[in-house]
Amino acid sequence: MTSKPAIYLDYNATAPIRPEAREAVLRAFEQAGNPSSVHAAGRAARDVVETARRQVGELVGVVAGSVTFVSGGTEANALAIESAVASGVKRLVVSAIEHDAVAETAAAASGLPVAVLPVDTQGVADLSSLPEMLAGEDRTLVCLMLANNETGVIQPVAEASAIVRAADGLLHVDAVQAAGKIAIDFSALGADTLALSAHKIGGPQGVGALVAGTRANVVRRQHGGGQERGRRAGTENVAGISGFGAAAAAALRDLPQAADQGIWRDALAQRVRDAGGVVLGEGAGRLPQTLCLAAEGFASQVQVMNLDLAGVMVSAGSACSSGKVKASRVVEAMGRSDLAPFALRVSGGWASTEADWIVCGDAWLAAWKRIGARRREVA
Ligand code: PLP
Repeated sequence: MTSKPAIYLDYNATAPIRPEAREAVLRAFEQAGNPSSVHAAGRAARDVVETARRQVGELVGVVAGSVTFVSGGTEANALAIESAVASGVKRLVVSAIEHDAVAETAAAASGLPVAVLPVDTQGVADLSSLPEMLAGEDRTLVCLMLANNETGVIQPVAEASAIVRAADGLLHVDAVQAAGKIAIDFSALGADTLALSAHKIGGPQGVGALVAGTRANVVRRQHGGGQERGRRAGTENVAGISGFGAAAAAALRDLPQAADQGIWRDALAQRVRDAGGVVLGEGAGRLPQTLCLAAEGFASQVQVMNLDLAGVMVSAGSACSSGKVKASRVVEAMGRSDLAPFALRVSGGWASTEADWIVCGDAWLAAWKRIGARRREVA
């Protein structure tokens, strides 16, 4: 019996490691040395870290000095929010579709009031209430992600920045999902801080970065040594950082091809619509490789299991919430609570092919047909 190769379309959970990143990690493992040591091995390790810092900076158009390495997207978001709180913000505004890493950190931030910025039916942040939310004396931190992890919908960050700056607030942007999928220019976005994660762009898990502009004051989060210019103590994850840098360089190089996924994604979307399914956020600008679909009566977990049996790996909503089998908070925020239990996320990336998207569609349609036949039998 020949087994079919598995198809991985869950890049928004974790992208497969890029060969360049794998090589960089292995190379770093082969060389000893602590980047803080002054001898030759230490200097070589320092070079590895600083090369990666430059590569990660280039991915978002900043100089290396703006990049602080941390343990991942979650820590980058926490460092941004906690730094803003430590430097005197008195209120937080968080979009309704932020990842838990932002929403939960904001909720835990020294008991400060947190206002929720709503999204429209396409999943785009509605900025009309933002000036009112920022009115008054108290300095405010606004958190608006660049692209949503479940729908791929791109957010009006530059527009938000203009409003935030006019009110002398701060803007934090979670760019964990957008990085490597669309071009990012930190200055053009008008962000004060921006979070990145290596494993979403084909680097290793457990490493990320916070990019900070001149208006942001990044505070010390972990006490100990003076690593990362005193912002984050602890010997650097040299191999992980090296892999992150290599992945960032490869992702930047491959950006022109990333758009191809959009054609394949849209072809699958059409098949879903033809079969009576719904594509969430289809009227908005989206990451080219993310598809969030729903078909009433076809529970998210049942879809995931059926596709898994067919050798296709996708996820129900965000990876964190799929483990807990709960309805998608993002879909609910879009006013489609009726569809929230049925949402499925298909996300490709650097190694995905047109055939992957076609096979995924075949498997989804076959499962949807079976479910339909069963429902008709019961009725
Ligand atoms: N922000 C977004 C939008 C994400 O999708 C994720 C991961 O799913 C994170 C933050 C957390 O990143 P990490 O897994 O590197 O902590």
